[in-house]
Amino acid sequence: MNRCSWVNLDNKNYVDYHDYVWGVECHNDRVLFEYLVLEMFQAGLSWETILNKKEYFEDAFDNFDYNKIINYDSKKIDELIANKNIIRNRLKILSTINNAKVFMNIQKEWGSFNNYIWHFTKNKQIHYKRFHTHSNLLDKVSNDLKKRGMKFAGSIIIYSYLEAIGVLNNHEDICFKGGNNV
Ligand SMILES: [Zn+2]
Repeated sequence: MNRCSWVNLDNKNYVDYHDYVWGVECHNDRVLFEYLVLEMFQAGLSWETILNKKEYFEDAFDNFDYNKIINYDSKKIDELIANKNIIRNRLKILSTINNAKVFMNIQKEWGSFNNYIWHFTKNKQIHYKRFHTHSNLLDKVSNDLKKRGMKFAGSIIIYSYLEAIGVLNNHEDICFKGGNNV
């Protein structure tokens, strides 16, 4: 079975991510928030590092329950900074709390974050062969999120995020999930 060339076949976390998450449409707000946070933590690091720590992140951040995260106090923040299993970056940890608040404001306005994030492509997944017709998508999403106060929402992070949640499908032609299979 052929997979996209970037997949590290020796790492089961990476293979599973490629096979079951990347480019697969996600419509669940909790999961949409989880990947938003994970992509933010990835900034400056490898995605593989994040995937290998994903379960620790879920433990540390209450399974990415934004209702709980918005109430994190300084004691909890110190606890996270002392947690050797996750990425101990104060700015990213504080931004996670901030972004949970922005995320929930979007939910209030749109009914769900799902409604919001998918409206940019009129609820359709964009295959990489059609991406040129949506060339302003990344800036549009990034600018809108930043305007709402979201941190770490630059267009490079948003690009990876939209792939993770399946708004973009960038599987290569040689991949069993790409080419003529979509
Ligand atoms: Zn692939």
